Amino acid sequence: MSEKINIAVIGGGIIGCCVALELVKDQTDIYVFEKNPGIATGENQSSRNSGVLHAGIYYEQELRPLKARLCVEGNRLWYEFAQKYQLPCIQTGKLIVANDQAESRNLDQYLRQAKINGVPDVRKIGADEIRQREPNVSAHSALLVPTSGIIDPTALLRQVYASASNHGAQFMPETEVVDLALSDGEVVTHIRYRDGQTERIRANTVINAAGIQAVDMARMLDPKIPIKSALIRGDSFKFYRNRRPQLFLRGMNVYPTPIVIDSPTGRHHTVGVHLTPTFDIVDGQMGIGDTVTVGPKLLPVTHFDDYSTPPPPPEAFLENMGFFPDLTPPDLQYHQGGIQARLDGYHDFYIKTDRHTPRVIHLLGIDSPGLTAAPAIAKYVARLLKSNCR
Ligand SMILES: Cc1cc2nc3c(=O)[nH]c(=O)nc-3n(C[C@H](O)[C@H](O)[C@H](O)COP(=O)(O)OP(=O)(O)OC[C@H]3O[C@@H](n4cnc5c(N)ncnc54)[C@H](O)[C@@H]3O)c2cc1C
Repeated sequence: MSEKINIAVIGGGIIGCCVALELVKDQTDIYVFEKNPGIATGENQSSRNSGVLHAGIYYEQELRPLKARLCVEGNRLWYEFAQKYQLPCIQTGKLIVANDQAESRNLDQYLRQAKINGVPDVRKIGADEIRQREPNVSAHSALLVPTSGIIDPTALLRQVYASASNHGAQFMPETEVVDLALSDGEVVTHIRYRDGQTERIRANTVINAAGIQAVDMARMLDPKIPIKSALIRGDSFKFYRNRRPQLFLRGMNVYPTPIVIDSPTGRHHTVGVHLTPTFDIVDGQMGIGDTVTVGPKLLPVTHFDDYSTPPPPPEAFLENMGFFPDLTPPDLQYHQGGIQARLDGYHDFYIKTDRHTPRVIHLLGIDSPGLTAAPAIAKYVARLLKSNCR
């Protein structure tokens, strides 16, 4: 590998892969460094998520403007991409349910938000229409969000990786960026290969898309960056929707009214423990499978590798699940856990140029809806890069 390259992308998750795919359109000599052995092998956020294509109704323009804008744009872009490459993706629609009058009034705020954010066709429905759509869901009222859906995150990641690779991006698995520094106005990227050998590479531009480690990366260049990680793990259980008639779910995303929780690592906006259908081969074709995930339930963690703290028990997942009354703890089996790149006290995506050099862009706090927003985030980064070069 040459000691001077054009663009170094740190991290081969969905963000790094989408950024590479966007930048290969008019740049060459792009390298993506990924410390894990493979792209799409399940070691990062991009393969340990709920696979929901969010519509973009949760995010306030004042507090979370990038999430508001990029989620809506990403939602549309992924449906087009999935159609083009025939990826597992279904526009299931979503019910955000209210258990009572007070929650129903809260939903009105999200209905207004949907209009402001440009999310199409959201409307409020009553108990009868909820039951027509999902016979086992019992609620006072709900928002019906037609553009929400599900996508297979691993298939998606694999395709973006393949497309970027086919267009010339170089992927370097098992290559960890261990240091970043500025030298004579250039960014020096210190990398370590699988065999332990290290190398210093100079890059014109560095995109820091290191997910839950992106804040640590940013600190190497800017030790006083005014941002702190507040890592949080999301665990999910699953059940089989055809085991009992009362458990049957037709295939919509079903969410509670969103809540805000206070935790030792700050205040977190959360969409709440929800029901998400998954894919399977049905009659020879990709369709809604038998498994429904329940979660994620959030657990603050202090280390980016903390998968050993036990998840909350199944009972805890059912605490606010009154809208799906026949689900019981014995129906639930553990599914998976994934750690989200949240920030302490900062609720939007943090996508900014480094304070010391226009050659580095940091993508911090790319938590949910980061999967949905990824292609729009990549376009945003490409525009930011162009404006930095002017
Ligand atoms: C439980 C859970 C549920 C979620 N559900 C949804 C959902 O339903 N819908 C949605 O839109 N979003 C969801 N998200 C959020 C979404 O998954 C993330 O926003 C998105 O995957 C972030 O992608 P990323 O590429 O930034 O991070 P990652 O996928 O974590 O990728 C970062 C990569 O950087 C690599 N890396 C780190 N440090 C280095 C280094 N020094 N050198 C080289 N490589 C490095 C890591 O190995 C990793 O592969 C969820 C997240 C979680 C955890």
